[in-house]
Amino acid sequence: MRYVSTRGTAPALGFEDVLLTGLARDGGLYVPESWPSFGPEEIRALAGLTYAEAAVRVMRPFVGEALDEADLRAIVEAAYAGFAHAAVAPLKQLDARVWLMELFHGPTLAFKDFALQVVGRLFDHVLKKRGQRVTIVGATSGDTGSAAIEACRGRKRIEIFILYPEGRVSEVQRRQMTTVTDKNVHNIAVQGTFDDCQDLVKAMFNDTAFRDEISMSAVNSINWARVMVQVAYYFVAGAALGAPDRKIAFSVPSGNFGNVFAGYGAMKMGLPVAKLIVGTNRNDILTRYFETGVMTMAEVHPTHSPSMDIQVSSNFERLLFELYGRDGAALAAAMSSFRETGKLDPGKARWDAARADFDAARFDDAGTLAEVARLYRETGELIDPHSAIGVAAARAKLDGIGDTRVPVVALGTAHPAKFPDATEKATGVRPDLPARLGDLMTRKERMSVLSNDLAQVQDFVRRHAPATENA
Ligand SMILES: *Cc1c(COP(=O)(O)O)cnc(C)c1O
Repeated sequence: MRYVSTRGTAPALGFEDVLLTGLARDGGLYVPESWPSFGPEEIRALAGLTYAEAAVRVMRPFVGEALDEADLRAIVEAAYAGFAHAAVAPLKQLDARVWLMELFHGPTLAFKDFALQVVGRLFDHVLKKRGQRVTIVGATSGDTGSAAIEACRGRKRIEIFILYPEGRVSEVQRRQMTTVTDKNVHNIAVQGTFDDCQDLVKAMFNDTAFRDEISMSAVNSINWARVMVQVAYYFVAGAALGAPDRKIAFSVPSGNFGNVFAGYGAMKMGLPVAKLIVGTNRNDILTRYFETGVMTMAEVHPTHSPSMDIQVSSNFERLLFELYGRDGAALAAAMSSFRETGKLDPGKARWDAARADFDAARFDDAGTLAEVARLYRETGELIDPHSAIGVAAARAKLDGIGDTRVPVVALGTAHPAKFPDATEKATGVRPDLPARLGDLMTRKERMSVLSNDLAQVQDFVRRHAPATENA
């Protein structure tokens, strides 16, 4: 399997290089040269397998020759062995048509563990084979950082720097990052928003000399391998609920568009997906695009679902690449004009194509808490504000799916204990932190506060990244 950049000029790469490279050198994102295809028999055969085995089958074509199947299986089994639920991604029926897929039983209580527990191990495997080390620099709105740190802590070949917006992540999220004591972990609290953090990381990537100097790499959702790993649970849920003989819809609380893009990938690979419903909070550039056909940048507002407080969803470029007929040059021009003007109008034909596959709904904080409260009242389920946006969007867009036989799987992206204040505000019940997180709330924290300034952040990374010894 080869991978090409969405902006058309960076060289095509194999899986190992795509894993280690993150952002393409032309500023684009890597996508598979073509989507592998799963026939009805292959999809049917996924039902009843262990989660890890199904995931190996889904990932296999993307990895190609880079890893042999036994190594891939060992990595995937180790990644999910630490999850606290035997089903790894259990499905719970909430009402006649809406299901919740709980993706929060990993070590940091958010769905990002699914990808990062695998990706950390993939990095280790490939770096060891090549005798290399890397400096991972990532931006987080909260959950990526803790999941990435958990996946990379103590790994000898990896130095990891995580930028998060100071004061804009929940206390549990912050502590999951700042209480890690491994020497290869560096937390940077940036005085700015998540988009500022993401821009800093992008700017460091685009500084090719700096990037080479520190052997920079990324585990943000721009990293293709994360999307690839996430494709698996769409297949697993689909097969469990009757695919390929029944269509399935998914409702995904979205920020950077990485999770729902994995659902789009599953659809491209042959899973019969009736609709992908995008749920957003008031930071709703995605919902506005699906409603109006035009993308316009706006300010970021803090909400009860901070992991979705994003305006420029980096993975949306992967969908645009498909909508632009995989024309990298045309997309590169569109993206640079978007950066300059804050506005992108891809045109009616592309909007129609997007709406054939996607629908979208937005919920403000009041709507989010109302859904947390409703679900608790009607079913006894305590859910977090992100997951609530997924469930609320599923319910709001049921009619748009048409066929009433189609179930909607809402993705439960975080454990309620990760956002206890919002959940308590909605229900009066404070969710308990699972015992395995132990003394998180009392451990000593460690972070560096830096201003939203590229030179200052680069200098910090340079001073703390050990000399790279790549030969
Ligand atoms: C990251 C995150 C999201 C958004 O996922 P994207 O892949 O960025 O769209 C939603 N909910 C939670 C809890 C998250 O951590």
